[in-house]
Amino acid sequence: MNLKQLLACSLLAFAGATSLQAASAAAASESAPSSAPAPQASSTVAIELVPGETQWEVRYDLPAPARELRFTRVDAKGNRASSWIPVDPALTIALEDGEEVVRRTDGAAFDHAAFRMAPRYAVLEKDYAPFSPFGDGGMLVYTGRFHVCPGPCSGGETFQVSLQPPAGSHAIVHGKVVESVRYQDIGDGTNLYVGRALPVTTPDVVAVIDQAFPADTRARLESLLPRLMAFYGREFGALPTRPMLYASRDENHPGGGYGYQGGTLPGQVFMHFYGRHEAFATPAFAKRVDWFFAHEAAHLYQHYPSLADTGDSWIHEGGADALAAVALQALDVIDREAVEARLQQSLDACAKGIAQHPLKQAHANGSFDAYYACGFVMQMAVDAAARRASNGACGLLCVWRDFQAEIAAGKPWSSDTFIAVAARRSDEKVARFLRTVVDDVAAQPEAVLRDGLAQAGWHLPLSATTGK
Ligand SMILES: [Zn+2]
Repeated sequence: MNLKQLLACSLLAFAGATSLQAASAAAASESAPSSAPAPQASSTVAIELVPGETQWEVRYDLPAPARELRFTRVDAKGNRASSWIPVDPALTIALEDGEEVVRRTDGAAFDHAAFRMAPRYAVLEKDYAPFSPFGDGGMLVYTGRFHVCPGPCSGGETFQVSLQPPAGSHAIVHGKVVESVRYQDIGDGTNLYVGRALPVTTPDVVAVIDQAFPADTRARLESLLPRLMAFYGREFGALPTRPMLYASRDENHPGGGYGYQGGTLPGQVFMHFYGRHEAFATPAFAKRVDWFFAHEAAHLYQHYPSLADTGDSWIHEGGADALAAVALQALDVIDREAVEARLQQSLDACAKGIAQHPLKQAHANGSFDAYYACGFVMQMAVDAAARRASNGACGLLCVWRDFQAEIAAGKPWSSDTFIAVAARRSDEKVARFLRTVVDDVAAQPEAVLRDGLAQAGWHLPLSATTGK
């Protein structure tokens, strides 16, 4: 991956009338805001976001004239180049060697620039959408998409972001309701809410849930999200700031598409539903949403380092699914049967994903989804074996706390570190199973996974693939 490693989270879209399918990956690193350098006013680009009914405007003021602007979040598809309209026709955004660059057509230097764009949701390949419209008229704006640098970005830039909400509206920034926005943005940026909705605030979370959701869905999320965050906070320690959750529902998404997408930024979890589909109203979908939020929320507490090896993504992606399973069971939201059903699906998906190459190379072979599926199987095996070894006292949560202690003590965020920690809480058989999946190409991957689960205590019914 270029520039910075991206933390992949599920981007899910409908594949048919009744099924959902992982389609791609979206991303943002979870590096702590405090790790960024101190603001340097002399080099700070000012970014003003101007809301409008059908078009928003972004205005840039540069600290000194520059001949080009480049975006911190590179978009090789040129979504900005194709959808942003320069207010001054002397400016252009062109795709050069897979990167969007703003220049004047006469090549002269400039110290301000402005663009207009429709505030529409867009499914981007490796980034979050700049706009997520709420069905109740609000808007979630992802500031990272607007970060620009005069010349190449070095990664440590700061940005002065300002925004004046329309009359009768307010903004929500870093968990606070404000009349106008002005702050220093750093790192990957953040989500700003602009609209009339007030957050639901509990000791554990600040949540903005679209009024456009059906009442029962709203009630479900308002009940589950604080309990989820309280659970993770109890197990892993409170986050530096109260986490924010956004859930938006835009039935009037233009273009006829439908689906949902979510992700995390430091201290934030968000999920956007767009378009219309009958499956959105089904109980099965509600369960999927619960799991999705639990997965994304788990990421906030993992403290995944952006420089970790992509081949180790099973630790945080499979881990987020496994921690979701543990949390949702502890909160009585799901039962063991639901976990077994997901284990079976994941086992089948993982077996396909590692049939030709070891898991640590899945990303290089276009099988990133294997990190979710295999990681879930591997860590649920760890959970069962660790519980057995401790007479039920200590499962995957203990392993994750140990792992984070090792990372804090200077060990690398790696498969070796995780497997060593898991072995200490369970047994050497589990460690061998994990190493086999990570490093080897098995002749019968499905049997390896099934045996690995069975020796840890999971006995799944025979799947269609093994029944042949
Ligand atoms: Zn994820």
